[in-house]
Order: sequence, then C-alpha cells, then structure tokens
Amino acid sequence: MSSANSTGGGTPGPANGGISFWYADDGLPTPREPLTGDANADVVIVGGGYTGLWTAYYLKKAAPFLRITVLEQKFCGYGASGRNGGWLYNGIAGRDRYAKLHGHDAAVRLQQAMNATVTEVIDVAREESIDADIHHGGVLEVAYTPAQLARLRTFHATELTYGEKDRTLHGARETTDRIRVCGAVGSTWTPHGARLHPVKLLKGLARTVESLGVTLHESTPVTEIKPKHAITPYGTVRAPYILRCTEGFTASLKGNRRAWLPMNSSMIATAPLTPAQWETIGWQGRETLGDMAHAYMYAQRTADDRIALGGRGHPYRYASRTDTNGRTHPATVDSLTHLLTQLFPQLTGVPITHTWSGVLGVPRDWCATVALDRTTGLGWAGGYVGSGVATSNLAARTLRDLVQQDSGQSGPTDLTTLPWANHKVRKWEPEPFRWLGVHALYATYRTADHREQSNHTATSSRLAKAADRITGRH
Ligand SMILES: Cc1cc2nc3c(=O)[nH]c(=O)nc-3n(C[C@H](O)[C@H](O)[C@H](O)COP(=O)(O)OP(=O)(O)OC[C@H]3O[C@@H](n4cnc5c(N)ncnc54)[C@H](O)[C@@H]3O)c2cc1C
Repeated sequence: MSSANSTGGGTPGPANGGISFWYADDGLPTPREPLTGDANADVVIVGGGYTGLWTAYYLKKAAPFLRITVLEQKFCGYGASGRNGGWLYNGIAGRDRYAKLHGHDAAVRLQQAMNATVTEVIDVAREESIDADIHHGGVLEVAYTPAQLARLRTFHATELTYGEKDRTLHGARETTDRIRVCGAVGSTWTPHGARLHPVKLLKGLARTVESLGVTLHESTPVTEIKPKHAITPYGTVRAPYILRCTEGFTASLKGNRRAWLPMNSSMIATAPLTPAQWETIGWQGRETLGDMAHAYMYAQRTADDRIALGGRGHPYRYASRTDTNGRTHPATVDSLTHLLTQLFPQLTGVPITHTWSGVLGVPRDWCATVALDRTTGLGWAGGYVGSGVATSNLAARTLRDLVQQDSGQSGPTDLTTLPWANHKVRKWEPEPFRWLGVHALYATYRTADHREQSNHTATSSRLAKAADRITGRH
C-alpha cells in the first residue's frame, strides 16, 4: 500500500490507492512472466479481469484443445475486477433500452439470464474451490427521502414486469429491522445478489484457468489490436480470434479513444466495527446495500466486519485518462465519509482505513454489449456501466458461444440470441464535449439529490429526469 495520507485536520488519513483495500487484505500478486517474442494461439484475450478470465475459463472447458493466451498489461485484477464493491447482482446496463429495441420478451430473457448468472458464479466458485467470501444475502436498496421513495416504488414495479416475482417491497420499519439506515422510509430487496471479496474471486479464477492450461502473460501491454494480431512491445501474438476485454481501459488502445468512456468510481473502507457497533446497525443478513439517490452509493459488510462503501466521486478525467493505482482525491474521501455517517450517524469518528478508485466502461448509449465480428475474428465485451461483476460472466459464456458458432462447433444458442449480443453503439463526442457532458450530467445529479433532501419533495427533479433519459436509468 502507499503511505498513509492526510485528509485534513492534521490526523493521518486512510491508506490511499495501492490498487484497493482488497489487495491490502489479500496481498498484491507477483506478476507472471511477460510475453517474450512472437507467438501463435487459437484465441488471444486482451485483459485479465473477470471478462477475460471467465472467457478463458469457459472456452477452455468447452474445447480443452484450444490454445488460449491472455495478455495483461499489469497483473490480472489490476482493473475494476480487483477494485469493485463486491456486489454480485443481477442488474445489467441497458436492459430497458434493449426492451425498446427488441421487445419486452427479449429483455425478460436477458433479465432471467442475469438472475441465473448470479447462481452460476456462486456454483462455479464452489466447484473450483474458490473461497471468495461469498454470502448469498440478496440486495437491499433503500430510500431515505420522499423522492427516493417514489423512485423506489417505480423501480420495484418495473422489476416485477421483468419477471422478478421474488422481489419484496418494505416499509420503514421492515427496512430498519434489516439495516438501521438513518431516516430510511422504505426499501426493495431481491434474492438475486451476493456479497463477495473481488480479489479472492479474481485470484481464484486466474489460478483455475492456469491449471486448465491457459497461458497468462502479465506485464504485457497490448498496444494495438488488428484482425488476427495482438501487438505488444515484446512481440505479436497471432490468432484467428482476438477478444478485447479491457472495459474501462479500452480508450487507451489505438483506434478506440472515443469508445467506452472510463468512468471513475471511488470507495472507502472502515476499520472492522465492534460487535457493539454492529448491534446498533443490524445488517445480520449481509445483504449488499444501495440507495435510490441519483448519484447512488453501494456498500457491503465485509467478511472481516468493515463497511466498504462506494460512489461516483470525481466522475471522469479529461481525455479519458485513468487514475494512478487507485489514488483518490481527499475531497472524494471526505464526501464518501460524510455519506457513511449520514447513513449511520453512530459511526461518526470511526477510522476510515482505506480509500481507492477505479474505472468502469460506459458506452455512448449506456448499454452493455458482447460481440464477435465474424469477418475479422475480433470480439469484445464490456460497457457494463458499473454492473460488471455478474455481467462479465454472462458476457464470457456468450463470447464462448459466439466463437464456437463462428468456428463451426455449434449453432446459435440461447445466449447468442440475447438482445445485447452484437449490439452496435456509436462513439463518444470528441473533447472537450465529452468532459463537459459527463461533468454536467453528474453536477445535475448532485444538485438534484441535494434539492430532494432539503425540500422533502416527493417528485424527482426534472433536470435529473432529463439526465436519466440520457443515461437510460429508471
Ligand atoms: C470502484 C468500483 C466499484 C465497482 N463495484 C461494482 C460492484 O459492486 N458490482 C458490479 O457488478 N460492478 C462493479 N463495478 C464494475 C465492475 O468491477 C467491472 O464492470 C468489471 O470488473 C469489469 O471487468 P473487466 O474484466 O471487463 O474489466 P477490468 O477488470 O477493468 O479488466 C480489464 C483488464 O484489462 C487490462 N488492460 C487494459 N488495457 C490493456 C492493454 N492495452 N493490454 C493488456 N491489458 C490491458 C487491465 O489492466 C485490466 O486488468 C465497480 C467498478 C469500480 C471501478
């Protein structure tokens, strides 16, 4: 970890960056050997996050004879997969837009596939003996203003129309019986979610694919992807299929500057709380916890009894730049700490021991995609807009099927015909319009949250509704 940092007031602040708390907890890995010269493979996967590793896993399981090489610029799990909030849940970015494009039934199929994906990850982790601190406690999303409550009810009703019949709606009392969020006026809970330790899952997956015979090269940045070629400073790997699994880092690849935008998300973790503190909070079900704010937060109770909580922070860096090893601006740490103590006032003064950030990929239409171009053999998956822990698994199984279909091993499958497969998306605007647009969007959300909280109004701000139309939310 990097050295302790001051967040103001002269007191030592949290360890800042060091990729994430999860690595402080489980240890940074020793990078595997880089590529040393030109090579050949049947499939090259660029990027060693969940998308890349799950894809390697499912392809190798389906066709053990395939020579699969993963090329990772730093080490597997350097990106969002080693930094996220550990919400394994059934949300997928763009579902409502896909319903408009392909019909409601197609979107219901997509939702059902996501529900099944949560169980799939849990089952595979168990089968492969990956202990990732998984707790299948569902997802609780709370409202603590009248406007949030109105949105929560609409959200709950919408989810039911996509077949989530096992979702439940709760009033203030039932909500605080689960988790005593200050001022909570209602909540919605779905069983399709689990808490996990992101890095333990990631490291277990990397070990598993390696044991299956997949070649992993770390410290190997791909500088350019061309049909049948992945070019690195140490050599070129040639293969009929090159799969780009670089999510929030995609803009740094040649020719992709205006593809998915690297959106920032930041987190803090408290010191482990005492049994007496937990007594005042509840949270015995270890559900993942979210809210209905426009600039929403996400949180989990970790296996070692901390609260890890995240939110948007500084949303986007000019010209699609990314952070340095997760280093986070002190103002973001302060605002996340403020939010934590707003939700749980009894935690005022509790030490924040870690803070970190990461990037997630946001497409111009805010719809996650998985695709294989059959004329070039180039494939990709991502643009999960912050819902990638489960979605990357569905993407990987879909990429497997697309490759198998293209190589004549199988025909279309239930997964290749889901509405997000082979979806086309236009590019982001050039700078400075990209920067101005994203910052205006999040300034709007922050203002709307502030107004809703101070005015106690039951209707969402009109400006935020306009922003939602752009992002496709709610
Ligand atoms: C702070 C934070 C919290 C989040 N919380 C949640 C959550 O709780 N639940 C949820 O569902 N989603 C969450 N997400 C999103 C989720 O983590 C991501 O969508 C998911 O991990 C993406 O996985 P990936 O493998 O596609 O990308 P990544 O994990 O980002 O992996 C991409 C990999 O590609 C490598 N790479 C990039 N460029 C190159 C190159 N040129 N050559 C070689 N390698 C390269 C990177 O080093 C990286 O290892 C969160 C994201 C962040 C940042």
